[in-house]
Amino acid sequence: MFKRMEEIMIEIPDVEKPDANAAAAVQELLGGKFGEMSTLNNYLFQSFNFRSKEKLRPFYDLVMSITAEELGHVELVSHAIGKIYQGGTKPGDPDKTPLESIKDARFSYPFLAGGQGAMPFDSMGNPWTGANVFNSGNLVEDLLHNFFLEVGARTHKMKVYELTDHPAARAVVGFLLVRGGVHVVAYAKALEVATGVNVTKLIPIPSLDNRKFNEARKYEEKGVHTKLYTWSDNDFGTIDQIWKGTHPEDGSPLEVIAGVPKGVPIPEAPAVDEEFAPGISAEDFKAIAKRLKQAGNISE
Ligand code: MN
Ligand code: MN
Repeated sequence: MFKRMEEIMIEIPDVEKPDANAAAAVQELLGGKFGEMSTLNNYLFQSFNFRSKEKLRPFYDLVMSITAEELGHVELVSHAIGKIYQGGTKPGDPDKTPLESIKDARFSYPFLAGGQGAMPFDSMGNPWTGANVFNSGNLVEDLLHNFFLEVGARTHKMKVYELTDHPAARAVVGFLLVRGGVHVVAYAKALEVATGVNVTKLIPIPSLDNRKFNEARKYEEKGVHTKLYTWSDNDFGTIDQIWKGTHPEDGSPLEVIAGVPKGVPIPEAPAVDEEFAPGISAEDFKAIAKRLKQAGNISE
């Protein structure tokens, strides 16, 4: 089961700098083959189908706990995409073509089918697919795949960071570079425990340090790259049998934290009247408030 909190992992800068094509690029990190929906669903199905959980407890706990973090990454990237769209159109008379400013956007589906928010598609509008999930059931093969998936995700994040300097994109991609780097190391260490092979010697792939990216470096300086969370009140503590020793890149001691990291409030998203979202007028709102009051759900 999952427990949900009204928080996201980091604060996203509220800078109005609409850039539909930058948002499309960030969509690759959400619904692309190596995006957050792929890491989430890979670990989700691997955790559902995991065999011999009791004998292989630390590996099972690792996949279970990282699944929960990936759900938080899907959430964070989605909010970043919304922030990048923000302000790209203005309310107006339909005859004045209020959506014209985004007519030439590479990915128009969020403006036509949606209300200018994140959608489960990649940067070119291909829908995310379950074909992106790999779950052979073989422990070493699945861990090897997860290592490769995190390395690929890291490369994609670096390229999106290089593609746009939008503050919301940079903030989130920089943070996720660090957290994704944790998962690269975690799966490398899991492979070492499972096989005796020192996979951490391959790191980093590509051979560029996270500290080369301003928005990632600040998190590494705070030690965010050394912490792995259980994402649970009581379960998954055996990940400390995998997440132990030192970080292969800078030698910092690694630490397992029971529970979840401290988050920040989910940002408010303003109405986009020209998209009819949410499509509730001031009069509608008054009527809704009255009905809620009658039902006893709000006080005066
Ligand atoms: Mn992730
Ligand atoms: Mn990850």
